Amino acid sequence: MSLPSEVDVAIIGAGAAGLGAARALENSGLSVVVLEARHRIGGRGYTIMAAPDITFDVGCGWLHSADKNSFAAIAERLNFEIDKTRPPWRQQSFDTGFPLAERLDFIKAIDAFYDRAEEAAKSGRDSAASLHLEPGNRWNQMIDAISTYINGSELDRVSIQDMDAYEDTEINWRVRRGYGALMAAYGAPCPLALDCNVTLIDHSGKRVRIETSRGMLSAGKVIVTVPTNLIADEAIRFHPALPAKVDAARGLPLGLADKVMLTLDQPDALPKDGNLRGATMRTAMGSFHLRPFGEPCIEGYFGGSFARALEDAGSGALAAQSIDEIASLLGNDYRRKLKPLAESRWAHDPFACGSYSHALPGHAGDRAILAAPVDGRLFFAGEATSANFFSTAHGARDSGERAAGEVILSK
Ligand SMILES: Cc1cc2nc3c(=O)[nH]c(=O)nc-3n(C[C@H](O)[C@H](O)[C@H](O)COP(=O)(O)OP(=O)(O)OC[C@H]3O[C@@H](n4cnc5c(N)ncnc54)[C@H](O)[C@@H]3O)c2cc1C
Repeated sequence: MSLPSEVDVAIIGAGAAGLGAARALENSGLSVVVLEARHRIGGRGYTIMAAPDITFDVGCGWLHSADKNSFAAIAERLNFEIDKTRPPWRQQSFDTGFPLAERLDFIKAIDAFYDRAEEAAKSGRDSAASLHLEPGNRWNQMIDAISTYINGSELDRVSIQDMDAYEDTEINWRVRRGYGALMAAYGAPCPLALDCNVTLIDHSGKRVRIETSRGMLSAGKVIVTVPTNLIADEAIRFHPALPAKVDAARGLPLGLADKVMLTLDQPDALPKDGNLRGATMRTAMGSFHLRPFGEPCIEGYFGGSFARALEDAGSGALAAQSIDEIASLLGNDYRRKLKPLAESRWAHDPFACGSYSHALPGHAGDRAILAAPVDGRLFFAGEATSANFFSTAHGARDSGERAAGEVILSK
């Protein structure tokens, strides 16, 4: 749509949070526009067809805490089939490279680590999660590797209070046509201005003045949903400045997780929805989902500083690393059977600059600071503002709905 010159409510960002806010305001009687820098909606929720028979969720893929996930009901309403196959994260197909006895030992060690961290969190004091690793435990690197997938970061940068606040019901489902595709369908009715990069939110006057790459508009109220790294780096600025928001965003940086999709020749040799993990004694390693939904492909997942190094090495590095790791487990034949299709580069994406937020040690309280409204006119949503479902798509969506409720109450 063309950019209106005035609206009641401007929502910045058309990811899950912005779309959640816009949908919640649709019968409010307020005029609304969602200003989105990209040429598409969904933000960190993005599904592509990597090949005609291969669906690739480049960002979020799992409906975490699915029994409490608001996108589950939305999927049903929009006729998106939900797949309830259990995730294979704790398995290892063929027992290759990581035999069952070792795996059970590892599971014991990681469960004990989480128990210690949870116990320590009860004191009310915060600390780095890495301090609760058992000194010298042989599985510490691998526990750290799992943190790079879950938090996008190694444990020394993760707050135990924040870890403890996260609500994981351990039920995880998927959407057959893709989580990003579901988000796009959910957001389709929203009033959108795409390719509209917001650079300044000037709240010094009676109305809020918003500068964008498509011109200027004024709004009575604004809901900001952009990722924390963009607020922290002041890629989007406020006038007067909001140092408390910038500080809170800096305490909640986006960690990094990246995905790669490989097409697989002779897929029937591998189990549907299987799992493979490379070296078991390193933090720098990938995790591989074999034939998701039975499709002829393998999806690789990398996190933390290893993902960052692979992104920095340039396009194709994630695929090359994946093929090396898979060939070392399943045999050199797989070098011929696997071909790169697509990979993410979330750290280099200027409108994300990372994957999902975690709180630095001592900064778990920053989520509430970031979420708090300013002067009854500026409201904040986005996954990082969620008290218990941060880092997720449904946490983001629900936070948008929460901010929309605050706007309505402040009328
Ligand atoms: C690889 C990966 C895997 C993931 N896996 C899962 C998973 O399995 N399950 C899960 O629940 N979550 C997962 N997530 C996290 C989930 O995708 C995010 O938490 C969620 O989508 C964030 O939504 P949001 O609305 O807060 O932010 P975003 O989706 O980032 O939306 C913000 C929007 O703001 C726009 N924007 C930025 N700057 C500006 C500007 N200046 N002007 C205008 N617009 C701007 C952006 O383009 C974007 O569209 C994953 C993320 C990644 C990257």
